[in-house]
Amino acid sequence: MENKKPVIVYRYGSGLYVNLTNRCPTACVFCVKNAWKMDYRGSDLDLRGAEPAPAEVLALAKTEWAAGPFSELVFCGYGEPTMRLEALLACARLIRNGRAEPVPKDLRIRLNTNGLANAVWGRNVVPEMKGLIDSVHVSLNTSDPEQWRAVMRPLEPWAATGFEKVKEFIREAALLLPETVATAVEGPALDAAAFRALAEKLGAEVRLRPRLETEAGK
Ligand code: SF4
Repeated sequence: MENKKPVIVYRYGSGLYVNLTNRCPTACVFCVKNAWKMDYRGSDLDLRGAEPAPAEVLALAKTEWAAGPFSELVFCGYGEPTMRLEALLACARLIRNGRAEPVPKDLRIRLNTNGLANAVWGRNVVPEMKGLIDSVHVSLNTSDPEQWRAVMRPLEPWAATGFEKVKEFIREAALLLPETVATAVEGPALDAAAFRALAEKLGAEVRLRPRLETEAGK
């Protein structure tokens, strides 16, 4: 029987992606983790509960860098990286302090998130990211609260207030961090003009992306 080891860091495009946790406060309708059986383009992202320590992530990043440089480190998934906020920030801090060399101190660090960190942690966490995170891509997906609940399928504690908290997160990030992008999955239900207007009002750039389920094999 095949016994593949869970993947903690993986290459995609020119970046190195970090799989910190499989925990997530949403169950987005477009998430492919179930359809793709926790596999992402050949990497088994099922951590089976064994979430990696920052030192382990950085050791792997150093090894990857030695094999060939990457243009950015991306905290992504499967799972919501800010569920492990302290570990995420510790990884970034180790890089910024030169403790991950030869990985450069000024490597671009991006967070792909559903934007619920302020809701989950009960405080505005964006100031803690300042100087550490260069870019946040927030999966907002809609300008409509009802549609947000239907598309993102948040767990109960965040169902009522989640949309407002995600908007707050984007607004704060746009004020404090170098790059904030609001993303949406394309489809007939998306009112792209209204989405763009909301993202711009919050101070974010806009990125629309195709649905991944249309591919055979986030
Ligand atoms: S936030 Fe990411 S991991 Fe969580 S359900 Fe949505 S797509 Fe999946």
